[in-house]
Amino acid sequence: MKLMSFGGDSLTVRIIEKLCKGCEICVKVCPKNVFEAKAKVNEYGYVIPQPVRADACIKCKLCEMYCPDFAVEVE
Ligand code: SF4
Ligand code: SF4
Repeated sequence: MKLMSFGGDSLTVRIIEKLCKGCEICVKVCPKNVFEAKAKVNEYGYVIPQPVRADACIKCKLCEMYCPDFAVEVE
């Protein structure tokens, strides 16, 4: 399963790209603006966000909880 993550040594936020439908709920609920909307097109043609500011993540896990497709992982 393909994963995309950012943040160097602090790899805390991942989007499982093949599960993501690009609804952007994660973009809207993140209090730290970690996700960049419309950053990539996945293999199914969905325009999906990417966690480009993962270093700012506070691990509140709102993105994980609200993602309807279980496409976000926070470690
Ligand atoms: S909430 Fe989930 S499905 Fe929606 S854009 Fe974010 S990762 Fe993708
Ligand atoms: S865990 Fe919280 S701060 Fe981190 S990316 Fe998700 S919503 Fe944003």
